[in-house]
Amino acid sequence: MADATEALLTPTPDDDGAPFWDYAARGELRIQACADPGCGELRFPPRPCCPHCQSFDSEWKRMSGHGRIWSYVVPHPPLLPAYAAQAPYNAIIVELAEAPRIRLVGNLVTSADARLDSVDPDRIRIGAKVQAVFTEIDGVTLPRWVLERP
Ligand code: ZN
Repeated sequence: MADATEALLTPTPDDDGAPFWDYAARGELRIQACADPGCGELRFPPRPCCPHCQSFDSEWKRMSGHGRIWSYVVPHPPLLPAYAAQAPYNAIIVELAEAPRIRLVGNLVTSADARLDSVDPDRIRIGAKVQAVFTEIDGVTLPRWVLERP
């Protein structure tokens, strides 16, 4: 692991979100779904109750990992030191191909283990197709995103 990534912030999974991170550690992007047979709506972030039908039954559906950039920002200093060392980088919001109203925040990189600044911000376009990749940082596996057509 590169020194520059050692102090990056990592998620602190809660009970509702723990399965998301467990599946990510297996290289699977899964989203919580209502398990009520008459509903089945996907929901993110994870929570105990379905906002559509109020069912407490849930399951985790595997996604293809395909999506599109819905929006993005390019943070500049002042930033936490580990992030300042890699600025300017990007934070993107991805809408999933299977469920465009499910949107995940992450980073667009050139490969799973690449630095946060590995993609030139001028190359980022809203609507660009992306694919999930996974990298481990300090014991937590994070989904990140690469362009389908770099
Ligand atoms: Zn439901």
